[in-house]
Amino acid sequence: MTIRSLPDAVISQIAAGEVVERPASVVKELVENALDAGASAIDVETEGAGKRLVRVADNGAGIPAAEVELAFARHATSKLRHADDLFRVTTLGFRGEALASIASVGRVTLRTRQPDDKAGVQLVVEGGAPQSRMAAGAPPGTQVTVEDLFYTLPARLKFLKSDLTEKRQVTTLVTRYALAYPSVQFRLVHDGREAFRSSGNGDVREVLAGVMGTDVARQMIGIGAWAEPRVGPSASTLQVSGFVSPPALTRADRREITIFVNGRWVQDARVAAAVLQAYRTLLMVGRYPWAVIRVDLATDQVDVNVHPAKAEVRFSEPDAVFRAVQRSVRAALLETERMQALALPNAQGLPDWPAHRPSWLGGNGGQDAAGDWATWYVRPDATSSPMAAGATTPLPTSALPLLRCIGQVATAYLVAEGPDGLYLVDQHAAHERVLYEAWMADWSQGAVTAQALLAPTPVELSPQAGEALEAQLPLLKALGLDVEAFGGHTYLVRSLPTLLAHLEPGAALRAVVESSGEDEAPLAAQAEARLIARVCKRAAVKAGQVLAPAEQQALLRQLEACRSPRTCPHGRPTMVHLSLHTLERQFGRKG
Ligand code: ADP
Ligand code: MG
Repeated sequence: MTIRSLPDAVISQIAAGEVVERPASVVKELVENALDAGASAIDVETEGAGKRLVRVADNGAGIPAAEVELAFARHATSKLRHADDLFRVTTLGFRGEALASIASVGRVTLRTRQPDDKAGVQLVVEGGAPQSRMAAGAPPGTQVTVEDLFYTLPARLKFLKSDLTEKRQVTTLVTRYALAYPSVQFRLVHDGREAFRSSGNGDVREVLAGVMGTDVARQMIGIGAWAEPRVGPSASTLQVSGFVSPPALTRADRREITIFVNGRWVQDARVAAAVLQAYRTLLMVGRYPWAVIRVDLATDQVDVNVHPAKAEVRFSEPDAVFRAVQRSVRAALLETERMQALALPNAQGLPDWPAHRPSWLGGNGGQDAAGDWATWYVRPDATSSPMAAGATTPLPTSALPLLRCIGQVATAYLVAEGPDGLYLVDQHAAHERVLYEAWMADWSQGAVTAQALLAPTPVELSPQAGEALEAQLPLLKALGLDVEAFGGHTYLVRSLPTLLAHLEPGAALRAVVESSGEDEAPLAAQAEARLIARVCKRAAVKAGQVLAPAEQQALLRQLEACRSPRTCPHGRPTMVHLSLHTLERQFGRKG
């Protein structure tokens, strides 16, 4: 065999193989070009999972009419001049290979217009060579259409996965870029149907909700400030920002760990490992978090030119990056646990409820019920409620598994089966927890509802209890318990919180003022939490009460939905768990 230089067309196809592996690679290169062109809106369209057609349209700077042919030449770029520039790369593209590669494996139609030009230009490129060029009406920006991908390389087509998989790859790509660039409006259409859209209003949480679903997004914990990536001059210091899921929110694979370096979506096993290490001891074996991590650092600290598809980077100080990511994620997780402890009433060390009354306790409340049962709403300004501030990121860290109720024992305990053994649930403590969380949730959202009593009920208290009550009247009113002094030690109850509407008014009131002596410490100093817990204690089902099977099951369902199902508001356990392991040991089946 003699050695021969390969023809240009073959060279192009070999090179293209590295850049364009599948439809999603085409979308990636075109979207990166659109972002580099400063677009604020990017439309992506596919037909036949991108094999038939990929079209990316942007409203960016456009390509000068005189340069459209050049854009398709290999190693032709407007983004790089010298070799040193490789360490000052502030754009996503820089190799000048994408358009050339794409054009050598698909039929490309480029239409572009710079904002100041009167008309646009359209260029058709096939087999890597320009075929026809004409003037064309076009909006400012660039539209690239790629048809019949790999028609020049039928063998490649065989390596593509199912349409579903290829489409999903495209969707993943577009949603990732939408996350990294929340100020850019993205739209993705597969076969005429919209698959994704982001508003471009800059709110990354909103994009997160569009990508992960509101439920997951709502729970994601923020790290640092998610600034729009600077495609211009880069940061001088290493910065980590992003979102990670709370430890209770996990998945079976690590595919939802997304990493951006200087606004570029990359695969980086070490950064991913740093994220996982931050969760150490917090996740069960085989479970992985959701994470979106941005690393921003000086451009000379990162080599972006290690991979033809630019999917990997090399850091000059990988250990520093690893540590920064691990620490930021860990700190955010721990901080959230602390915040959650603050938000939950059975936490220690709460700041004292301010001695002066918050303004919202003053003016609102019971327009007197005109006649029959009426409901009024207490709406404390959500931001001034300490609960609202702490409760923004609910964290079901001690979530219960689904329980199957087996029955009641000693009219006090529910017996249930879970995936890992037996649960004995204290019906009173469990119900306390359920009532308490329901009330606290309403309270934190400023949505405590109350029912006015048909006839205000007088209740006589001891002098001490009366005194204790007087000090709390405004707070009680905000909690839906409208009470008024009636002379002597008698008080008129005008309304009860809806959650307690079934209680006898006297019992409800006494529950509030009679210190049970046991509840102060665990609830720390948060007045309303303490009050609510007290009333819930009174309102909850008691030991000795027979519960119908449906009531037993309902109580377990409600407990499962609690944030801290394993303790009552006073900190005592609601349940005893006998794991299968324990049972097996007890029965001598295992050592
Ligand atoms: P690179 O992005 O590495 O420079 P490409 O082959 O992707 O290489 O693009 C070549 C050149 O074409 C770019 O440098 C840029 O000047 C121009 N170009 C490509 N796509 C666009 C676009 N959507 N808007 C404006 N200019 C573009
Ligand atoms: Mg490019």
